[in-house]
Order: sequence, then structure tokens, then C-alpha cells
Amino acid sequence: MKLYNSATRKREDFVPNHPDIVKMYTCGPTVYHYAHIGNLRSYIMEDVLEKALRYEGYPVKRVMNITDVGHLTSDADEGEDKMLKGARREHKSVMEIAKFYTDAFFSDCAKLNIKTPDVVEPATNCIDEYIKIISKLMDTGYAYFAGGNVYFDTSKLERYYIFNDFSAEDLDVGVREGVEEDLNKRNKNDFVLWFTKSKFEDQALKWDSPWGVGYPGWHIECSGISMKHLGEDLDIHCGGVDNAFPHHTNEIAQSESYLGHKWCNLWFHVAHLNTSSGKMSKSSGEFLTVSLLEQKGYDPLAYRFFCLQSHYRKSLVFTWENLDNAQLAYNKLTARVGALKPEDGPVDEAALAAMKERFLNALDNDLNSSLAVTAVYDVFKAKTNDATKLAAIGDFDRVLSLDLIARGEQKRQELKRQAVTAGQFTVVSESGESDPEVEAKILARQEAKKAKNFAEADRIRDELKAAGIEVTDIPHGAKWKRI
Ligand code: AMP
Ligand code: ZN
Repeated sequence: MKLYNSATRKREDFVPNHPDIVKMYTCGPTVYHYAHIGNLRSYIMEDVLEKALRYEGYPVKRVMNITDVGHLTSDADEGEDKMLKGARREHKSVMEIAKFYTDAFFSDCAKLNIKTPDVVEPATNCIDEYIKIISKLMDTGYAYFAGGNVYFDTSKLERYYIFNDFSAEDLDVGVREGVEEDLNKRNKNDFVLWFTKSKFEDQALKWDSPWGVGYPGWHIECSGISMKHLGEDLDIHCGGVDNAFPHHTNEIAQSESYLGHKWCNLWFHVAHLNTSSGKMSKSSGEFLTVSLLEQKGYDPLAYRFFCLQSHYRKSLVFTWENLDNAQLAYNKLTARVGALKPEDGPVDEAALAAMKERFLNALDNDLNSSLAVTAVYDVFKAKTNDATKLAAIGDFDRVLSLDLIARGEQKRQELKRQAVTAGQFTVVSESGESDPEVEAKILARQEAKKAKNFAEADRIRDELKAAGIEVTDIPHGAKWKRI
């Protein structure tokens, strides 16, 4: 499998460090608000990566943190803790907020068929880990104490910037206008490992430490949690591209200084979901959630489908029109699956292997999910029976997770029900899609014909034609298509 590594800026053959396990770490959500569909784009693509690795036979152990402390409103160690801000906004305690939004996050993930990682660890659970790492960094001179906080000294490193192929805009993400310079820092990129002093003295969660009562910085939590569950090395570290700097850069700095050797082999960064007004973010701009999509009548899996149609390293523009198109295409796809006859067997193993090969090639090509989706469409064109096609689609869906077989079955049942409600008269579309409005009009035309009201029947047919629908009579029914 070839994957792009942001740290080397190359596509590389993926080779795990250990034959018996692929160690994968994912930066989890900061649980002070709902995840927006931009955050969830990152989690969908990381889910596809994990499932692709499993599909290829790798045993994966995936760990995710839950950020419930220490992520300040600016990634440059400034402002108040996002959790505290959320708690104040909702007149709840920080822990209540954390629980509520952690549950909401996993409920959104379930709707999008995102598998829960093997280990999910809240940052507040691992204070001892952070203290252990920071203590050693202090002992070895990589960290210093100033003005009540412990800082990492970036001047001690030969190379600090790892991901310098990102645009100036990406590198600026953490720095906000109007943020005062922290005069305790020896170098501008130094970052806080442990806070005991901040301008916001009402920080709710604090712990004892060798440097005084306080709380950890955001970056140290991912190093600590990863080492707690995955040991001293990592195969893949994932996150959205905004995490590359400063978050992942600082994770590498502190982890490698602590360990004394290389930490993570491959960095997998998902490009942003943007709206017409820029990057979707929790603090500004349009904030779209899975629940909002549902309220507007969209299927969350149509959003997953929308994400899969683009490569993870390209930014993706969200518009309602794009989502409408994805929903329509998803409906058509599931209807086509529903039109396949499961009893049309047996499975042709040679044909199945050829289709799987295509799918695998798409995944191997830096996780080209849009080609992987094309491999599904190619199945319909294959010269083989329906049972083989269904076997291929079910197999691919282990990675795509679009519920193609179950939704196809639903569509099959819907069509059957429609046929029953209309007596002997069946309405079908050539593409396999269903459209209740069109179907109702075709049934009304049939009623008019039965009542010998041919003028009305013709009127309805003309009305449908004007709406771009062509109706053809078939034995015991009618079929329609868009023209
Ligand atoms: P947060 O909850 O803010 O810590 O972010 C959770 C994940 O979402 C991180 O991996 C971010 O890099 C990622 N992320 C944030 N905004 C976007 C976006 N607009 N598009 C894609 N991923 C994003
Ligand atoms: Zn992280």
C-alpha cells in the first residue's frame, strides 16, 4: 500500500514496524461543542484508512484521545481553556460538558459508520503520564520553568519544523491576531507543557505536579496517551491538516526528545472541508452538524459518500447543491444494488477476484477513495451474475461502510411494497431510483385510464414530460426515466 507521508513529503510503501500490529493514533475531538461535518470529514477518511489496512490483512490497534482539558482558544497557548468556555456557555460543569459532547461525538460517528477506535482515552485520565514525560524533559534540559509554567525549549532541537510543505496560511493557524506575546518564552515557538499560571485563574480542573498545582498543555496529552497504549513507536499518526502545526510539530518535538529516537513513521493529514466563506471551524463561520443534515432530510451516509468521492489530500468544498447531488447519487447507487437478484448464483470466484483486485489497487494508490467508489460502479458493468456482483459490493463495503447491501435490500422491499399497494400495476424507474411524486402521478394516470378519462391521462403524461420524465407502458405497469 502506498501512502503519502506529510513528514517526508513523499508517497511511501507502507511497512509497519512490527509484523503483528499496526499502531495507529488519531487526535480526537475537543469536547466543548458538537463536532462539525468538517471535523467528521477527517474522522471519516481516517476510518477508511483503518478499514483499508484491516482489509489488506493488517492487525490494527487504533488509539484516540478525547481532549477534555488544556486546549486553549488559541493553539499558541493563549486564551482560556475551550472546555471552560463551553461550560460557562451552557451553565454546566466541565465534566458534564465533556460527557455530553463525547456522547454526541460517538453518536455522530455511529450515524456515519465510523468505527470506534480500539482505545478511547480522555486526556484527564493520564496526568501521571504527562508528569513522567515532562519530568524527564526538565532533567535533560529540553524543558524550562518560567513565570509559573513549564515550557518546551525548541532551540534545543536541530530541526523543529517537520511539515514545512504546508502553506503559510496553514502554519499560521494557531496564531490569532491580538494575541499578546508570552514574555516567559525563550523562543517564539516554545510551547507550554504544564500550566500553573494563566490569565484565567478559574480553570476548573487542576492537578498536583512537581511544578505546582495546574494542568497539562494540549500537545503533551497526545504524546502521553499514545505512549501509554502504543509504546515507544507509532506507525501512523492521523489528524486534520490544521493539526500539523503547531500541534503535531510539538508532539514530535517533545516525544522524540523524551524517547531519544524517532517516534512516528507516517503522518496522515486530511485536508479541510471548506464552505464558500472558508474553512469550517467550531469557533467561526458556518457550523454544520450531522443532526442539522438529518433535520434537512439528508441521510448521514450520503455525507460519507460525498467525502469518499474526493481524495483525502484535496480540500473539499461543501455546498448544499453538492450534498444534494451526493444524496441523489447515493439513492441511485443503493437502488441499483437493490435491483440485483441475490438468488442469481453461484458466486463466480474468478470474476470476484478480478473485481477485488481493482478495488485493492484504488486503496493502494494513496487511499484513492473516489477510485474505490468507481470500482463499485464497475461491478454493475462486469460480465458476471448478480450473486457475484453482490458479493463484490458487500466485500468493498467493509471499507467504504455505506451500508450498500442493507440499503439495497431496503430498496428492493420498497419496490415490492409499491407494487402491492398499486394492485397489479408496478411503477419502476429505469435507473432504479424511486421518486414518490413521479410515482404518484403515474398511478393517477393509470387510474384515469381505467376510468376511460383519456384526456386526463394524456394531460398527466404531458405534465410529466414537461418535468423531464418519460413514461413507457410495460406489461402490468409503467417504467419511467429522466430525459
Ligand atoms: P478539534 O475537535 O477542534 O480538536 O478537531 C478535531 C479534528 O478535526 C482534528 O483532527 C482537526 O484537525 C479536524 N478538523 C478541524 N476542522 C476541520 C475541517 N474544516 N475540515 C477537516 N478537518 C477538520
Ligand atoms: Zn493530538
